[in-house]
Amino acid sequence: MATILLIEDDFGIRSAITRALTDLGHAVTSTDRGMSGLESAVDKQPDVVLLDLGLPDIDGLQVLAMLRAVSDVPVIIISARDDDADMVRALDAGADDYVVKPFGIEQVEARLRAVLRRSGSAVIEGPLVVGGLTIDPRKRLVKLDGIPIDLSRKEFDLLLALAQRPGEVITKRELLADVWRQSYGGGDRTVDVHLSWLRRKLGETAANPRYLHSVRGVGVRLAAPDTSPDGH
Ligand code: CA
Repeated sequence: MATILLIEDDFGIRSAITRALTDLGHAVTSTDRGMSGLESAVDKQPDVVLLDLGLPDIDGLQVLAMLRAVSDVPVIIISARDDDADMVRALDAGADDYVVKPFGIEQVEARLRAVLRRSGSAVIEGPLVVGGLTIDPRKRLVKLDGIPIDLSRKEFDLLLALAQRPGEVITKRELLADVWRQSYGGGDRTVDVHLSWLRRKLGETAANPRYLHSVRGVGVRLAAPDTSPDGH
């Protein structure tokens, strides 16, 4: 079960989505205006936001931009605008997915499941702990040895994807699919760049890894540092 905020001005679509998602056990709050949607997103901290682009008071892309300034909540765009430029603009502005109207409710459900899976809120309850690292998927908070670390959205998602399978080598392809959505990802280089930023924030380097261990030609593994007296 997830808490979902639906921002949609079309009454028919709004009630159909609300009914379908409530039937699945989700808690749905809805509004027909962008500004009140933004307020709800901040106040209620939903697990996912479903956002229409054509709203009466303010364009959905502006809602998205303002929301992104204050929140990492996953956002799925639901829109009749179906040209590539709009989709790219929405994804660049921080949307997690895009569903074109008219759509079957199953399609919204499937995207919702995927987004919840990626953000970890559907499966993970408490924080994940790897050595001195604590990763809280619900609060999207990371601490290293008790000290909070400020991570970007993608850095956090990357760390979370690795922390869900500690000790396991995860391929860049998997990370691209999981964190960036393959269709939108820029390739291995995207993963490499974010890994290097993440390393810097964890206070380590590729040459002297503590938590993030690259396996050349394969991928990367997150593991607790070796703290035994004769460890390296
Ligand atoms: Ca609309």
